Amino acid sequence: MNAVVLLGPPGAGKGTVAEVLVDKGYKHVSTGDLLREQIRLETPLGLEAKELMDRGRFVPDSVVVGMIRGLLESSDFSAKYLFDGFPRTLVQAEKLDELIASLNGTLEHVALLECPFDAIVERLIGRRTCGKCGSVYHVTFNPPSNGELCDVEGCALTQRPDDTEETVRERLAVYEKQTAPLISYYEAKNLVRPINANQPISAVRADVLKSLA
Ligand code: ADP
Ligand code: AMP
Repeated sequence: MNAVVLLGPPGAGKGTVAEVLVDKGYKHVSTGDLLREQIRLETPLGLEAKELMDRGRFVPDSVVVGMIRGLLESSDFSAKYLFDGFPRTLVQAEKLDELIASLNGTLEHVALLECPFDAIVERLIGRRTCGKCGSVYHVTFNPPSNGELCDVEGCALTQRPDDTEETVRERLAVYEKQTAPLISYYEAKNLVRPINANQPISAVRADVLKSLA
């Protein structure tokens, strides 16, 4: 298996960019989406995760790594994976390296989406998502074509409970402390492809596609 990691602060546009890479054959694996599915199903894992996620804190490494291990070990070994929101700590990055090695895979690149924190706060407060298909919109920067409804499903869009200004600022602080050190970790392996994520969505998507070519 081959893998690409989308790295960057919450709200940098990882999920938005992932949509075009799925069209290129990547399997999109978002640990945030996997955790929200557990919350929706009201599993014990979901209940534990929700309390942490609503406060902008990380779910324990063991939980997240366990989910990724289960997914990779039961999937198609020839797949190309696109990791979004994983890894988020050095422990997770080391575990991902071990997992990929155990499957004779390769981590090809780390696309680093760079965006100033002020722009991110505005993005996350205005984010709206479709509960059915997961499509991501923004009230100003990427509105649905038919007003308030998802373009794909036609249903009402919702705002994530962790997309309040207070929780967004907490998430950015957690990113700085726990996730930003991954940049040096991957730079030392010569895997980082920096992307200017502070441009219109179409330009960011084009730059990511170019960087992975
Ligand atoms: P992440 O997955 O990194 O948390 P998202 O892809 O969900 O980020 O994007 C966060 C919000 O910002 C969404 O509302 C999305 O529509 C919007 N967004 C994404 N990329 C851009 C961009 N380049 N310019 C403006 N808004 C963007
Ligand atoms: P996201 O959808 O990527 O913005 O993630 C939403 C929330 O899920 C995060 O703020 C964390 O609470 C949790 N989460 C997602 N991925 C991870 C991860 N790799 N490690 C720890 N917590 C995570």
